[in-house]
Formats: sequence, C-alpha cells, structure tokens
Amino acid sequence: MGRLSAVPDSRKPHILILGGTTEAAALARSLVDRYGDRFDVTTSLAGRTRTPAALPGQVRSGGFGGVDAFMDYLIRERVAAVVDATHPFAARMSENAVAACERADIPRLVLLRPPWVRQKGDNWIEFETAQAAAAALPRYGRRAFLTVGVQELAPFAAIDDMWFLVRLIEGPTDPLSLADCQVITGRGPFSADGEQALLESHEIDLLVTKASGGAATAAKLEAARRRGLPVVMIQRPPPPPGSLCESPESAVEWVLRQLAP
Ligand code: NAP
Repeated sequence: MGRLSAVPDSRKPHILILGGTTEAAALARSLVDRYGDRFDVTTSLAGRTRTPAALPGQVRSGGFGGVDAFMDYLIRERVAAVVDATHPFAARMSENAVAACERADIPRLVLLRPPWVRQKGDNWIEFETAQAAAAALPRYGRRAFLTVGVQELAPFAAIDDMWFLVRLIEGPTDPLSLADCQVITGRGPFSADGEQALLESHEIDLLVTKASGGAATAAKLEAARRRGLPVVMIQRPPPPPGSLCESPESAVEWVLRQLAP
C-alpha cells in the first residue's frame, strides 16, 4: 500500500492526479501555482522510480491495492475529481480508475498525450505487443537501441543473436535478462543531435520503442529518420473510455469546469 507524504486537511476540493508523466507534473504545477488557494492537489505515483523528480502539491507513492482499495482511498480522502494522466501504456491503472471513479461517482478525465505522427522518411514497422515485436526483431537489424522501459524487456530476452543498447531512466536493481547488452541511463528531454551521436557511436541499425508520444523522447525518431534506420514501434493499448484531453492546459480547464463554485 502507498505511503502518504501529507494529507490535505482543508475543505478545499481535493484533486487527484494519477501521475508518472511529464504531463501530470505540468498539470500539478499549473494547478498548484495558479489555483493552489482553491484546490488541494495530490499526485499519485506508482513508486517505480527510486528518485522521482520533485512535484508541487501533495505526493503519495505506491499502488492503491486494486479497485476496491482505490475507491476507499477516493472516498476517505474526499477526492472531488480525478485526472488520469498516467502514461499511455499504463493500462491497468487507467482501467482501475474507470471502475473506481464510476463506483464512487467521482468525475474522471483522461489526459493522454497525442501520439507521434509518421513523417516523410520514416520507416516504422508497427506491432501490437512487445512479444510480437520481439519475435520479428532479428529480421530488421543486429544492433538495436531498445527504449521500451525496464518492465517491457522480458520478451526480448529470448533473442540471442542481437546486441542491445538499453536506455533506462535509472540503473536496474537486478541484472538484465538480455543475452548481450549495454545499459545507459537518461531522462528526457533528449536532443536529435545527441540521439544521432548515440546511434552512430554504438553503430545502431534499429530503433525499438513504444508509441509513447510526447516531445521529451521524440528526438530518437528524428535521429533514426536522419540515419534511415527502421523503427520497430509497439502500438498503444486502446485509450480508456470517458472524457479525454491532450494537454495539461485543457485538463486545468476541465477541473475548473467541474469544480467551479
Ligand atoms: P500499470 O501497469 O497500469 O499499473 C500496474 C499497477 O501499478 C496498478 O494496478 C497500480 O497498483 C499501480 N499504479 C500504476 N500507476 C499508478 C499511479 N500513478 N499511482 C498509484 N499506483 C499506480 O502501470 P505501469 O505501466 O506499471 O506504470 C506505472 C507508472 O509509471 C504509472 O504511473 C505511469 O504513468 C508511469 N509510466 C509508465 C510507463 C510505461 O511505459 N508503462 C512509462 C513512463 C511512466 P494497484 O492496483 O495496487 O493500485
């Protein structure tokens, strides 16, 4: 269960942001900076990152313990509105939010960053799952830049005739299961020149990524385009149902509409 860094104790409407993304952090910043006198703002993190970036407002960390426990949290903490600003691939948390908010009758908005758009010169090969991408991977290259996140590496462990440059947000706690790889760490935003230099210095011939979208990690796509490299792209799961917006600014407007006195 999660640990709460501080519990809002005022009678201001309490907004819960399901976070772990740049957009969630931007939303928390906007709400706290501009409307902190009107709302209590809590960001919820899964607790995967050992050193998360500082966030304004309250922060809680760790899973809620499933739908029922999440609903209990929403009621106990008098949450007035939920913005699900989790990563497009965090499908389970989003699904739990749909169920818990519906049962607790709490308004919920999904803040979902726009997907990347294929540009002239791109050579994207799209797969529905990481498993399908991994099975096909050796057809497209020998030295892959793997940027799918630490939780998605397992399907690639069965490949023994490729070399991987694996970029993670922070160093892994356990050795990776990949046969032949090098790990580097880095948090976006990245520059196209920097990404290109990385591809060149490691003689990368294939980029593997999830279709995460967002500006912070888009530079690798430009670098791959410049070098004419194929990009194996794992498609997003379907978005959760309900109200949806694409930017932190639109989410602020939604909050104001929901909670205007
Ligand atoms: P997930 O598979 O959808 O969620 C698995 C479980 O982790 C959830 O059932 C929930 O546990 C807990 N959880 C997830 N997000 C949470 C949050 N914001 N606050 C509290 N508990 C949370 O999620 P995931 O893909 O592992 O992602 C975990 C976190 O990392 C998310 O916050 C997401 O925004 C961020 N992130 C994910 C990715 C990615 O590629 N998946 C990339 C960047 C950032 P309980 O059932 O116990 O409540």
